[in-house]
Amino acid sequence: MSTRVPARVPTEEELLKLNASIDNVRKTIDKEKSNGKRRNCCVVTYGCQQNEADSEQVAGMAVEMGYNLTETTEDADLIIVNTCAVREHAEKKVFSITGGYKHLKDANPELIIGICGCMVSEEKNAEKFKKSYPYVDFTFGTESLWKFPEILDVVVNKKKRSFILNSGDEVICERTPSSRKSTFTAWLSIMYGCNNFCTYCIVPYVRGRERSRRPEVIVEEAKQLISQGYKEITLLGQNVNSYGKEYGVSFASLIKQIAELDGDFIIRFMSSHPKDMSDELIQVIAECPKIERHIHLPFQSGSSRVLKLMNRHYTKEDYLALIKRIRDKNPDISLSADVMVGFPGETEEDFQETLDLIRQVEFDMMFSFIYSPREGTPAAKEVQMSEKDKTDRYLRLLKVQEPIAEQRAQRFVGRVEKVLVEGRSKNNNEKFTGRDSGLKIILFDGNDEMTGKFADIEITEAHAFALYGKVIRVY
Ligand code: SF4
Repeated sequence: MSTRVPARVPTEEELLKLNASIDNVRKTIDKEKSNGKRRNCCVVTYGCQQNEADSEQVAGMAVEMGYNLTETTEDADLIIVNTCAVREHAEKKVFSITGGYKHLKDANPELIIGICGCMVSEEKNAEKFKKSYPYVDFTFGTESLWKFPEILDVVVNKKKRSFILNSGDEVICERTPSSRKSTFTAWLSIMYGCNNFCTYCIVPYVRGRERSRRPEVIVEEAKQLISQGYKEITLLGQNVNSYGKEYGVSFASLIKQIAELDGDFIIRFMSSHPKDMSDELIQVIAECPKIERHIHLPFQSGSSRVLKLMNRHYTKEDYLALIKRIRDKNPDISLSADVMVGFPGETEEDFQETLDLIRQVEFDMMFSFIYSPREGTPAAKEVQMSEKDKTDRYLRLLKVQEPIAEQRAQRFVGRVEKVLVEGRSKNNNEKFTGRDSGLKIILFDGNDEMTGKFADIEITEAHAFALYGKVIRVY
């Protein structure tokens, strides 16, 4: 295992400054509240699970500083938008939504508006908010999340706007509280950043280099979550299989330590890079019943030529060999993947290789994307395919994948699956929902008391995107 130097931790002086800022803001907020003012904070989140986890920390810090949390921006006195930079479309949406907050500021001049996350880790976006959105009070990039109290202190107490860019000073601050949205499922970040520089992806530029949290701190946090009644823990990182190089601890050994903790809970993890998935992890998944029977393994393209253009560091053959090793040890495992069509230079022949890989692997679920150029990445500079051709390939890909997913799902009919009940389905309020071990949605009749509990569900019907079943027992 290659080694990395552990990320910097905050100095005593930095922690004292941070605590002083928390106290300063808290005093002001408490005073304002005792004067009858409402002090609510709304965190709006775009993007991936890592952003959701980050937002829970932003919310946790806001609570620590005296704010009450609200779900609606209309009720808020502090709005923080946590942004995503993966797609340009998402960025446009954030500019447009922030434009809509102007009328809230007009109605409530004491409203504080901040933007954080990947999008404002890019200087051009932070500058745009500073210059063109005078009612935005602060921005800070992913690297400065732990310094949110200091930034807010400047706005609340010094009445100044504050715009903080990433500087490459990648600190892991373990004292940050979290206000989790769910009382039974929890994100647990194990590492940050990415070293892979896939040629289509902006993440390494906005989230910095790979750095892991200390294993003992992660295991302790998992213990606390279990003792607080959390039933599902999802370990998060851009590339979890590359975890722990600073400490000589593999991801496989970390997840095994957590899976061996006492308690009735399940563990999931994401995301995995095929080049880093180890046989040790495949073995641990096979041995530990608390680790769900699901691996999400993005392959992006079935053409080794395109994979090279993408800088993915594996070939189609490597990927297929890895799938075989996984299935040899875990024959019933559910597999999902990300795939993209229309990457610059992708020929019809390359696309056929992708279809061939899909047919050979037979994924249970697939998240398919049309490539869209991301400014600031190498692939965006290449000659682009027409939107029409990209859409055509996308639709042809779905036609291949959907019958496979439908067919794969049939193996569940008649089985009893352990499911964590998530609550009422958003699409069908009459039904309750949860996910099977393979992350597939299951719909069933239930009641609100079941939410947050495990249930054994007998599967009666199976489709490409969802399973249906009936409740056998709740526990
Ligand atoms: S592994 Fe590639 S796609 Fe995933 S975050 Fe890193 S650069 Fe982006």
